[in-house]
Amino acid sequence: MIDFKRMAQEEAQATIDIRRALHRIPETAFCEEKTSAFVSDRLGTLGLKVETGIAKTGVVALLESEKQGKTLMIRADMDALPMEEKTGLPFASTHEGVMHACGHDAHMAMALSAASVLGKIKGEWKGNVKFVFQPAEEGPGGAKPMIEAGVLENPKVDFVTGCHLHDSAEGTIGVKPGCVLAANDRFDLKIIGKGGHGAMPHLCVDPIDVGVQVINALQRVVGRQINPLSPVVLTIGRFHAGTAFNIIPGEAELSGTTRTFDRVIWDSWQARLERIIKGVCESMGAWYEFKFLRGYPPTVNDESLVEVVRRCASEVVGQENVFEPEPIMAGDDISFFLEKVPGFFFFLGMGRENSAPLHNSKFDFNEEILSKGVEMYLRLAYELLRDCA
Ligand SMILES: [Zn+2]
Ligand SMILES: [Zn+2]
Repeated sequence: MIDFKRMAQEEAQATIDIRRALHRIPETAFCEEKTSAFVSDRLGTLGLKVETGIAKTGVVALLESEKQGKTLMIRADMDALPMEEKTGLPFASTHEGVMHACGHDAHMAMALSAASVLGKIKGEWKGNVKFVFQPAEEGPGGAKPMIEAGVLENPKVDFVTGCHLHDSAEGTIGVKPGCVLAANDRFDLKIIGKGGHGAMPHLCVDPIDVGVQVINALQRVVGRQINPLSPVVLTIGRFHAGTAFNIIPGEAELSGTTRTFDRVIWDSWQARLERIIKGVCESMGAWYEFKFLRGYPPTVNDESLVEVVRRCASEVVGQENVFEPEPIMAGDDISFFLEKVPGFFFFLGMGRENSAPLHNSKFDFNEEILSKGVEMYLRLAYELLRDCA
C-alpha cells in the first residue's frame, strides 16, 4: 500500500513555500501573468507537458503515468482580489491593492504539490492527471473560455476535482453530493426619469421613487413567485442617484445579484426581472436600460462519486472529521467543468473561530492543513483511476 500520508507530509514545507511565494504576487482576473509564469515554471521543472496562455493566462499540464487509463483533471484557480492586504505577514502581498484573500494561492500550491508527488510515483497509478490552472474565478470567469479552448479534450477528461478552503473546523473535509454552490448572476439597471426642482415633483418623473418601487416589486418575486422549497436570493447591492437634497435627479442606477440552486429558476431570472422592471417603469412614466449578465451555473457534485470521495477524506482526516456541508449561495465557476464531466468539489476546513473570514483584508489560515488537501488529491487520483482499463 502506498503511504500517501507520508508523501504529502514530505511535501508539506514545499507546499507552504509555494503558497507564500504566490501569496506575495497576487493578480486579479485575467492579469495573472507572474502567477502563470510561476506555475508553468514549476510544472516544467517537474517534467510535465505544459501549455500556457489558455484563455489569456490559464495553464494546463499533463502528467502521464506508466499505464494507460482514464484522465482525472485537478483544477486550481489563480486570481486574487482587488483589496489591500492588512495581515502584516512577512510574505504579505507586494502588489498594492491586490490580495490573495480567497485562498487561491493555497489551491494552486496543493495542486502543484500533488503534481510533484504523483510524478515521483508514476509506476504506482494508472492513466493521466491533467492539472488546470484557471484565471478569473472571482469573475468574470475563466473556466468557460478554457473549456472553449479545449482543455477537456486531448486527452478527454473523465473526472474533475477541485477544492476550496472553507470556514469549517480546522483539519476537516467537507464532502456533499449534489448541489454545493449556487448559480450566480449580475444585473445592472438604469432608470431614466425626468429631473427637476425638489419642490415640484409633479413636473418630474422621480427615478429614486421608481427605483424604490422596482426594488419592492423585485423582492416580491422571491416571496410570491418562487416555490418556497427552492431557496433563492435577490440582492440589490448598489443604488446610486442624486446630487443634492433639493434636486430630483434625472437618473438612478441599481445593480444586484440573483442566486439559486435550481437550473429552471436560473433560466427564468432575466425574463422575470425584466417583466417587473418594465411594468413598474411604464406605470410610473419612466424609461429603463436593463443589462443581465448570466454568471456561473450551480455547482453540482456527482452523486456516484460521493462514496469514493468520502472514503478518501476519511483516510486523510479520520471519519469523524469528514462532514457534509450545507450548500451555500456563493458560486464558483468550477461548475462549468462539472456540467460537462462528472466530478467533485470538496472543502478543506481551516477553522474560523478566532480569525478573519475569506475576502477579509486580514485573512490568513494555518498552513498545516495544506498537506491534507495534497493527500486528498493523491488518494483521489489513485482511487478514481485505478479500476479503469
Ligand atoms: Zn472568493
Ligand atoms: Zn475562491
